[in-house]
Amino acid sequence: MSGLRLMAVHAHPDDESSKGAATMARYSAEGHEVLVVTLTGGERGDILNPAMDVPGIRERMSEVRQEEMAEAARILGVRQQWLGFVDSGLPEGDPKPPLPEGCFAVIPLDEPVRRLVQEVREFRPHVMTTYDENGGYPHPDHIRCHEVSVAAYEAAADPDFHPELGEPWAVRKLYYSHGFIRKRLELFREEYERRGEPFPMEQWLSKWRTEQGDIMGRVTTQITCGDYFPKRDDALRAHATQIDPNGSFFAVPLDIQQKVWPTEEFELAKTRVTTELPETDLFAGIEDGQGE
Ligand SMILES: [Zn+2]
Repeated sequence: MSGLRLMAVHAHPDDESSKGAATMARYSAEGHEVLVVTLTGGERGDILNPAMDVPGIRERMSEVRQEEMAEAARILGVRQQWLGFVDSGLPEGDPKPPLPEGCFAVIPLDEPVRRLVQEVREFRPHVMTTYDENGGYPHPDHIRCHEVSVAAYEAAADPDFHPELGEPWAVRKLYYSHGFIRKRLELFREEYERRGEPFPMEQWLSKWRTEQGDIMGRVTTQITCGDYFPKRDDALRAHATQIDPNGSFFAVPLDIQQKVWPTEEFELAKTRVTTELPETDLFAGIEDGQGE
């Protein structure tokens, strides 16, 4: 089955490469259309890669981030669309400072919902992915991304919602992507123990409070995509200002990841089709050519 459409809604450029990227690369390679919608320009992202903190980069940051995004999309084989909202930044300190005026997380919800509904009615995705109600991690733009996506999933299908934005389109399924899975790190650690080598993410795992539980309990759908991990990593490295190639994301070698945990995880949040859980395909239950 091919020729279906997948839309992945993300808050910032680089989120698409760290959350569900190998899944998108696989669906694209298998002949489906994949569109990444990026809600903000990532203008408030800092330079997180020391090698890129050089003269001439910071001055043209938003242009640099557009070039990085274009390269990541090319690597993953996906199309990408900016919605043009302004990055809210991650407020830090105690108490946290107020969010900047006019940024994505403070403008009325209706504005981004209308923009996303327009994109949905144009691209007509069968499946949409976004973040859960906690944003995957507590960045105000990620939580807002969840709210906008859920609202647009409903509104795009409603003929009474801004008919001027296009013909109503009922997205068949909405998923939350889940990246921070404790079980995955525990299995990596076991593999290092078997090899008699120190686990490079030990600190990470030990900082993980057990009372947080494991989001794995909410996962309904695992997509096998280990063959596309190299593309995922290349796409992530294309966001050169944002990603330190020596950072923890790349600490566990690909062959271990492909052997121990060759999947990406999703939670079926809403569906308009009948499907059986657990699933191994985001398009499960959607007939070929359904609604074109
Ligand atoms: Zn983000």
